[in-house]
Amino acid sequence: MDKIFTVTDLGEGLWEIADCVGCRCYLVKGRDRVALVDSCVGVGDLRPVVRELSRGLPVTVLLTHRHHDHIAGSYLFDDVRIPREEDVDIALGEEQNEHAVRIYVEQGRAPEGAFSAMRDGTRPSFTYFEEGDVLDLGGVTIEGVFLPGHTDHSMGYLVRERRLLLSGDAVTPCMCLFFPESLPIATWRQTLEKMQGLPFDTFRIGHYSHEFRKSDLDGFLAAADYALSGARGLSWMYTYIEGLKGSLYISPDTPTDDADSPDFRAVIGPYVPREHKRRRRHGADGAA
Ligand SMILES: [Zn+2]
Repeated sequence: MDKIFTVTDLGEGLWEIADCVGCRCYLVKGRDRVALVDSCVGVGDLRPVVRELSRGLPVTVLLTHRHHDHIAGSYLFDDVRIPREEDVDIALGEEQNEHAVRIYVEQGRAPEGAFSAMRDGTRPSFTYFEEGDVLDLGGVTIEGVFLPGHTDHSMGYLVRERRLLLSGDAVTPCMCLFFPESLPIATWRQTLEKMQGLPFDTFRIGHYSHEFRKSDLDGFLAAADYALSGARGLSWMYTYIEGLKGSLYISPDTPTDDADSPDFRAVIGPYVPREHKRRRRHGADGAA
């Protein structure tokens, strides 16, 4: 494994930073300050990467939601903001992070003995960032907008001058709504409708290197509608939290069956057990 972080220059003061397990965060640079939206899973030291890109400007970390694969790297920074309601279960996230990193090492996706931000850094004292709050980077402004569903107060960050939304896990090709902190699929559908009215043209998310367009929301809406139609879900098991499972609904409109593709469209909602209809065995009750 050569290096942990891959930096992609997206132009005009925007960079994507991807870690070795596929988590993405985004650095937005203004005249006076940079914002780091999310902070990856904490494998490897993110500070030198951010330092090189920010060129001495102060750094504010903006977190989209509480999950450890978004907040772990923030344990290395001082100015860290998150929606108030997402400042919960942080200790649980630290446990889950330790467990997940162990699995990544076993899978060969993270190096043995790698630096771990949650273990080796310090839990930040969060400042709260709410819907409508604006961070001025100098010539670039970022506005918070709630995108509930994946978690109850997931936040998206609108980079207003670029008409870009950085939305974390609020909308993903394989949409995860099976966590205890997730909201009903119908609520997530409302978030998609809310997004249609927001002032952005493109959006970028937490686990894919892909520029989504606002028109892509139609496919996500179709996936939500399918899941809400009473369709039968497939039983689906989450690798990183023991015993956590959900029901998977693959949109009939998905243009690909490759679950890793940014074009895939599916929703994983809360687990709904299938009704098992007992098959009558021939002659089991003595009938001929
Ligand atoms: Zn998440």
